[in-house]
Amino acid sequence: MISEEHRAEIGVIGGSGLYDPGILESMERVKVYTPYGEPSDDITVGMMGDKKVAFLPRHGKGHRIPPHMINYRANIWALKSMGVRWVMAVSAVGSLQDEYKPGDIVVPDQFIDMTKARSYTFFDGPRVAHVSMADPFCDQLREELISTTRGLDYSVHDHGTYICIEGPRFSTRAESRLWRSWGAHIVGMTLIPEVNLACEAQMCYAMLSLVTDYDVWAERPVTAEEVTRTMNENVERAKDVLVNAVYRLPSTPDPNRCSCCEALKTALL
Ligand SMILES: [Zn+2]
Repeated sequence: MISEEHRAEIGVIGGSGLYDPGILESMERVKVYTPYGEPSDDITVGMMGDKKVAFLPRHGKGHRIPPHMINYRANIWALKSMGVRWVMAVSAVGSLQDEYKPGDIVVPDQFIDMTKARSYTFFDGPRVAHVSMADPFCDQLREELISTTRGLDYSVHDHGTYICIEGPRFSTRAESRLWRSWGAHIVGMTLIPEVNLACEAQMCYAMLSLVTDYDVWAERPVTAEEVTRTMNENVERAKDVLVNAVYRLPSTPDPNRCSCCEALKTALL
């Protein structure tokens, strides 16, 4: 049972490079137990301005959990059990299109799921649910993230199709060219099943995808040092966006601007 002082309306899931909740004040670490086992790490609860925020590093402290081994169900369950309504997720991605440049921020609006072996649902039976994924992200939260990023003068793409691969290996050149020919914009390993589980949990979910480099289709070799530098700069920008977005978010989603909190209304059989 989560105590009142550990409840938070806003959740942040940190991706590669964003492991520390250093953007929070008066932090406290909370161990959360779920029916699905342990989340990636303890959840840090703290204040960002006048709002309570719960922070969870997706890969655990020190990046010890690879994308295909993340307990996505425990992570989303844990945030839900703390009262989280808004989930702002951060992830590093490769670019599939010239105009999506390293250093750019993408707020994706669609995905294509190429993962192979994950736990995709909270509804394994006897309760069965088929949630709509026609528009998988929260419109309201996407708009807030996009306008915050624009207001800070960072380069942002207000739409993008995210290809989620199983990992932990990267794509082959043939795969990368295929994703690109499908019109996808970015490729990463962690969006699925985080986004659909958040939907099943009736939470508002949107992602800040941070472009680190061009994927292998581009045949533009980069050094690990260049990627690390871009990733570090991206993380600083993402923190800036998160802090400013939190100030703007109302404590409860506006039901006229999205229907995330009613996602199960038409999904349960
Ligand atoms: Zn929503």
